[in-house]
Amino acid sequence: VFTSNDASAECEAPPPTGELEDDNVVYFIKKKLHVWCRQPKGKWELGTIQSTSGEEASVSLSNGNVIKVARSELLPANPDILEGVEDLIQLSYLNEPSVLHNLQSRYSQDMIYSKSGPILIALNPFKDVQIYGDDYISAYRQKLMDRPHVYAMADAAYNEMMRDEANQSIIISGESGSGKTETAKIAMQYLAALGGGCSGIENEVLLTNFILEAFGNAKTSRNDNSSRFGKLIEIHFSTMGKICGAKIQTFLLEKSRVVQLALDERSYHIFYQLCAGSSSDLKERLNLRAASEYKYLNQSDCMTIDGVDDAKKFHRLMKALDVIRMCKEDQELVFKMLTAILWLGNISFQDTDNENHIEVVNDEAVTNAALLMGCSSHELMEALSTHKIQAGKDTITKTLTLRQAIDARDALAKFIYASLFGWLVEQVNKSLEVGKRRTGRSISILDIYGFESFQKNSFEQFCINYANERLQQHFNRHLFKLEQEDYELDGIDWTKVDFEDNQVCLDLFEKKPLGLLSLLDEESNFPRASDLTLANKFKQHLHANPCFKGERGRAFSVCHYAGEVLYDTSGFLEKNRDPLPSDSIQLLSSCSCELLQLFAKTLNQSQKQSNSLYGGSLDSQKQSVGTKFKGQLFKLMHQLETTTPHFIRCIKPNTKQQPGVYDEDLVLQQLKCCGVLEVVRISRAGYPTRMTHQEFSRRYGFLLSEANTSQDSLSISVAVLQQFNIPPEMYQVGFTKLYLRTGQIGALEDRRKHL
Ligand code: ATP
Ligand code: MG
Repeated sequence: VFTSNDASAECEAPPPTGELEDDNVVYFIKKKLHVWCRQPKGKWELGTIQSTSGEEASVSLSNGNVIKVARSELLPANPDILEGVEDLIQLSYLNEPSVLHNLQSRYSQDMIYSKSGPILIALNPFKDVQIYGDDYISAYRQKLMDRPHVYAMADAAYNEMMRDEANQSIIISGESGSGKTETAKIAMQYLAALGGGCSGIENEVLLTNFILEAFGNAKTSRNDNSSRFGKLIEIHFSTMGKICGAKIQTFLLEKSRVVQLALDERSYHIFYQLCAGSSSDLKERLNLRAASEYKYLNQSDCMTIDGVDDAKKFHRLMKALDVIRMCKEDQELVFKMLTAILWLGNISFQDTDNENHIEVVNDEAVTNAALLMGCSSHELMEALSTHKIQAGKDTITKTLTLRQAIDARDALAKFIYASLFGWLVEQVNKSLEVGKRRTGRSISILDIYGFESFQKNSFEQFCINYANERLQQHFNRHLFKLEQEDYELDGIDWTKVDFEDNQVCLDLFEKKPLGLLSLLDEESNFPRASDLTLANKFKQHLHANPCFKGERGRAFSVCHYAGEVLYDTSGFLEKNRDPLPSDSIQLLSSCSCELLQLFAKTLNQSQKQSNSLYGGSLDSQKQSVGTKFKGQLFKLMHQLETTTPHFIRCIKPNTKQQPGVYDEDLVLQQLKCCGVLEVVRISRAGYPTRMTHQEFSRRYGFLLSEANTSQDSLSISVAVLQQFNIPPEMYQVGFTKLYLRTGQIGALEDRRKHL
């Protein structure tokens, strides 16, 4: 029997640590403490240990069953008092089942936000949770509310910005459908409310979301409104804390969606909005038909989204374009380009007598596309069916094969769309321009695709995961810095805390000339290269990097911080080159449509730049997709490094986009991928429990068996630690605070409870 004044019994009970070790099993049995018991299908259930014999334990589950399991299948569970805590770091035990259970318990009560140290975890509710809007905004503003919330995080960022005159960033990541874009909008809503003034620019900033979503979002199998690009929006504030401008940067728009759709998915919303919502006048001017008549749209058998009115959205879009002061002529130009793309998709080819060569079918698709682009049907047909090669003074014309012609047509459509998207972002930026009076006060919100690992991973996942590896390093270093500062300020020997770095994996991607990206570029410039030669090249040069694994055939694996991913090099070279035939570029330059001329000019300029970068060796080759992305990413990281970061991890509790369904495995896998468990691990390596000497002595001082005459909270605290035999490696004493390792506080709490 344990009593408070039985000092010898106290000493006999070891304080629980993170795992169930030999000595604390006894403690768990005696105190009938809960444990997690892994069930055959990997599910964890609560129970209490009845007895142990060797490596086996007999456990009574909460459903009444008593089972025998290996000791290794048991983990300590948290005391009831810690049920549903706001910050995972408060948990005595930070093991997987405890973290999962805590989040689930909160989720079931519609508490979708939790913290894990400095990170905000947001579980997608897939329903209206009624915790947003003016009342909540003012409650957070006046600090009447302090539950974890995006508002609280945005508030912290704003206050830090104003106080320290330092730029801030809010970095949001998570899988497709986890709620990143909604979360970004919620943060912007809060900042707009705080930084709103008489200029009304905050509304413009909010409206940009609408424009970007129309052109950059689409229905996918995982999310009805999936962003197919990464986005950084930088909101600038005046010295008075009012929004004075904004700037948007975008990353890696998924171009292939314009020409190719998976079953049940749609192309970009704007196409359907335009077809459904344009007036009959506009339709006539554009020669625009119903969406179902266009091959680029009807190939997937999915033309509408439940609960979405495309026509209505189109009207809102036109209003948004008005607000950013895009003139009607420019708006019509945009719609013209969109319609041209749709007609391009309807262009077909037929065999000629000449072996397997083809010609363009001269039908209304050609006529309409050419008309909208501002060229003759003949020029368009030539560009899509032939390739001109300059040989000295002569020009040799070769006819394309069917495959080449289709690729040329699709490449043109993709190029026009991506250029249009880039141009739109530029127009939005012009209208939100900050002007010259930068004040050093900004908050940047990053909404970027999270780590992805599917059965089959291609070039897209390769780029996305590379970006996440960079962001993870940023995150680790920031966390390390925070901890370090905290420890140093308090006179703690922080070198005892280990941090893992992912530099080796980043080297695997970035090293020149022997890194994945460089080797990919090298192979992309090699005319006879294939996906197989690429894979072999990787294996030949990179096998020594511990993060690289050669696999059979075209495959290779990378050990990312979030787990190992198997990549298939099929299509890598083509996607990295992303070629646009010179014939198409020439066509665009000669079109009368100013936008197309502009797009061609921009492309030519970027080619010149990259050619000089490569010493001219890449004749008429534009910068590869991989290299361009790396450049963007470096710029992004550089920008983020000048900010104080705040992290939000969005989690999708189920894949059905349904409220109230919590799929443990799915959540666990995301917690691993987004580094939440990593934070937990880092803090376990450190000293997660931090209390001031006063707090500690007030809470536990009375447990001392001998009255401590000293009034000094530091010596009371130290006496408590000694009396309860907390081993010296389990705590550190700082100038102001006590730092305890995971689980230590649990034993003291237990003692307190039993008095
Ligand atoms: P993707 O990577 O595909 O762009 P995402 O992470 O940006 O995905 P969102 O588009 O933000 O995901 O969210 C998907 C859907 O989840 C939303 O359309 C909305 O229905 C729902 N959702 C997300 N967050 C919330 C929230 N806080 N409250 C209510 N519903 C939400
Ligand atoms: Mg999104």
